[in-house]
Amino acid sequence: MKKEHLLAALLTAAMLTSCGSRTVSQTSSESGVPPTVVTASSADSSEPASAETTVTDSAKNPENSTVTTENNTSADSSGAPSAQNDYSEENSELSSDGPSLIDISIFSEGLPGISVSYDNSCVYEYGSAKGFDFTLVLDLDKWEGNTSPEQLVTASQLFWECYPRMYTRFGTTSGAPKDVTLAVENEGYSPAYTMGDFVHLHDEWLRDYPEDFDCLTHEFAHVIQNGWDGEFCEYSDYIERFADFCRYEYAFRSGAFNDSNWTLWTPDYEGDLASSNRFFVWLDYTYSTPSKDIMLDFFRVCYEQSYPSDQWDSAWQEIFSGTALEGRSISDVWDEFASSDFAYLSSDGTYGTSELLSTYDIRSKIA
Ligand SMILES: [Zn+2]
Repeated sequence: MKKEHLLAALLTAAMLTSCGSRTVSQTSSESGVPPTVVTASSADSSEPASAETTVTDSAKNPENSTVTTENNTSADSSGAPSAQNDYSEENSELSSDGPSLIDISIFSEGLPGISVSYDNSCVYEYGSAKGFDFTLVLDLDKWEGNTSPEQLVTASQLFWECYPRMYTRFGTTSGAPKDVTLAVENEGYSPAYTMGDFVHLHDEWLRDYPEDFDCLTHEFAHVIQNGWDGEFCEYSDYIERFADFCRYEYAFRSGAFNDSNWTLWTPDYEGDLASSNRFFVWLDYTYSTPSKDIMLDFFRVCYEQSYPSDQWDSAWQEIFSGTALEGRSISDVWDEFASSDFAYLSSDGTYGTSELLSTYDIRSKIA
């Protein structure tokens, strides 16, 4: 890719890591037109969230991260609903006129149980879920209104639905951040990238692909990974494949958006473990049990960097230990997957539940 894009993106992210640090976040956006926000409800701006950015695996592997997201989306776009064009037309006036007026009360109304405040181009959302306190900082400093206010609320709803669930299962093992920043910016890399607790979403992405909210589920999964290093994965692509796994299993509103515009590939298409966005879904569904979470063990082995990539035969033995797969090789397990109907059933949910979900109730198995 596009190293100049990456560099610009990384610099942008580094400069905008904290909504509270306005000395750096006041850098001019491309249009120079800041969004206008009306605080209709009482705003508590006394406690801006800290958002320290630690460079993580995603930063070390941004090419994988961003390109994979692009690939997935472009692959999905072929089956994307025509509403995309309608939506763009509806918002053409908004985008050409610059940022719209946003009423902060739509966040309060759209996020029951979440405390919402506004300060310095950022919406601060505080709440508890699954026994933990979380903060989402929605950084709108470089938002220019292409992403509609309603879409911003929906993106926040996605965070509060999906992130605590991923955190509870995986993030407690990695010490993942509970305070996350989502910056919607009309500059930088498209569609999105993640550095530490900082997620960048290009301002035009949801305007152009209004069904693609779950690209954020994928990015938030990178936050949960909290520092995976591709050198200690069998394939560095596992960083992306795990985020894809989360995108599918923890899809927003049970896949209401995701399943009509993003697909799980089949072995005919993906060919091998490094490329498969379906294998881990199968592995989890087939071999995780209430007493043995095989994907949590996979996650832990990756996070702890216990095995360099050339020692993953041993890593798989540790992951398979105590499961029905104990003692088997990963190539043998892949062959089992590749010969299953699970590997080939369509995950397209455009017209309702997909063939895959009709046969395997995947999402009801997870908390
Ligand atoms: Zn990614």
